[in-house]
Amino acid sequence: ASGYSLLRDPHHNKGLAFTEKERDAHYLCGLLPPQVTPQELQVKKLMHMLRQYQVPLQKYMAMMDFQETNERLFYKLLIDNVEELLPVVYTPTVGEACQKYGSIFLRPRGLFISLKEKGKIHEVLRNWPEKNIQVIVVTDGERILGLGDLGCQGMGIPIGKLSLYTALGGVRPSACLPVTIDVGTNNEQLLNDEFYIGLRQRRATGQEYAELLHEFMTAVKRNYGEKVLIQFEDFANHNAFDLLEKYGPTHLVFNDDIQGTASVVLAGLVAALKLVGGTLADHRFLFLGAGEAGTGIAELIALEISKQTNMPLEEARKKIWLVDSKGLIVKSREDSLQHFKKPWAHDHKPIKELVDAVYGIKPTVLIGTSGVGRTFTKQVVGAMAALNEKPIIFSLSNPTSQSECTAEEAYTWSKGRAIFASGSPFDPVTYNGKVFVPGQANNAYIFPGFGLGLIMSGTIRVHDDMLLAASEALAEQVTQENFDKGLIYPPFKNIRKISAQIAARVAAKAYELGLATSLPQPKDLVKHAESCMYNPNYRSYR
Ligand code: NAP
Ligand code: MN
Repeated sequence: ASGYSLLRDPHHNKGLAFTEKERDAHYLCGLLPPQVTPQELQVKKLMHMLRQYQVPLQKYMAMMDFQETNERLFYKLLIDNVEELLPVVYTPTVGEACQKYGSIFLRPRGLFISLKEKGKIHEVLRNWPEKNIQVIVVTDGERILGLGDLGCQGMGIPIGKLSLYTALGGVRPSACLPVTIDVGTNNEQLLNDEFYIGLRQRRATGQEYAELLHEFMTAVKRNYGEKVLIQFEDFANHNAFDLLEKYGPTHLVFNDDIQGTASVVLAGLVAALKLVGGTLADHRFLFLGAGEAGTGIAELIALEISKQTNMPLEEARKKIWLVDSKGLIVKSREDSLQHFKKPWAHDHKPIKELVDAVYGIKPTVLIGTSGVGRTFTKQVVGAMAALNEKPIIFSLSNPTSQSECTAEEAYTWSKGRAIFASGSPFDPVTYNGKVFVPGQANNAYIFPGFGLGLIMSGTIRVHDDMLLAASEALAEQVTQENFDKGLIYPPFKNIRKISAQIAARVAAKAYELGLATSLPQPKDLVKHAESCMYNPNYRSYR
């Protein structure tokens, strides 16, 4: 190949890092200025450049440019500056990028499968240049973060998540496939936007929707085999639970909004118990919000309690209560509840208001997953603090504006007694001269390592015990030094080490359950995980 095309191939380009010898051997002389720059200095330069941008979306677009120009440098940058860049390539900035997707890109990334491709999805997959796919992240764009239906513009989400699969979990970039399924959108603003990039029709539902998804799922398995991981992302809950149930028995599927959230939150709770005392079974849980996140977390807590105590799952569930938009979920409402809420309809008189539910149920743990901000009021937090010496309060709704309460409110209204974590990041808070560092229950702690564990063991089905294994592995990464600061999640800067630990534990569980196909089982799974991880340092070309 010519030097000119080498510089334009993002998989091989090194820019100014090409050495004198490489420049001679690959027809690059004259195409680059004389300076040879090591990769570390390139990283420094790009960080310097990114920090000049004041607007987050500009940083996002610059990052996408780096990814298109020099892939290894992009990943090196992201890995070495993960705490600073995670909010750029992922939430919250990716949300804004999706909202403006139609007008910010000249070159599309990822694979778009719309109703127009019905009947030929198998061939469409063949248009993708890479053949050895290990992870697919797929969305239908109906519930992008807390931003609602963004239709085809949801593509930013699979792209962002897969960048994290590589940067945090070490999955090779060429093994990652971002997919958006376009069945239309019910977002009137997009339908009327002349720059909208998707199908200009209202969402297909029912049989038409199911058939397109089924064709996709079948084509994926036919093209990439039994071991390809399909992560469902940001589907609305009326499809998300059904897809997981339908394809769980036949495909390697994982829903991050339901299962990944559950695993990361359970890890935070297990760690919080070190500060609060007692076992999970000693606690009582109240959720505001009974959708994908709320019921997903509730189910995994119940499963862990039943494993720890040999209690039947039914009994364990009785320690957990949920409130939805109509109030406390109780037996008398059972007939009109969506199926995923039915297991949580316990015996109690109806209660409408959250604060009354807190006094009625007397939870030790309060978790917000409603998507509605400012709902953990002073009265609600005050009630938790009146009932508990150390109330555990998680405000998980995103983005920041939707958080049930801020970190400052949680600490102030509980007089510094709350153990607090949130979905969106909050800065440390000083209350009465003491510094409190809130935890962030970020799904990015779990899914990259979880996926790596499945891939490296050649696992063919996801089992709930693997989610529990991931939670335990993450909780164990919190050190005494972290606890002393009130932290219930480990710092993100060690995320690749954490991911390797999670991957090893997930793989071990897969081998134990007989679901792993990469045989024989490696002796040291942590070492094996680390050795499988993609390394973004440049290769030398001869
Ligand atoms: P979802 O499936 O749409 O569920 C939302 C739930 O909240 C529904 O049960 C809904 O009630 C309930 N709700 C809405 N308004 C309410 C109100 N005013 N009072 C009480 N309940 C109300 O959404 P999801 O996927 O679970 O996501 C929910 C939120 O969690 C989002 O903001 C998301 O960003 C956040 N989240 C955070 C993390 C994390 O921190 N790692 C992970 C995933 C999700 P009805 O059922 O009655 O409509
Ligand atoms: Mn999501």
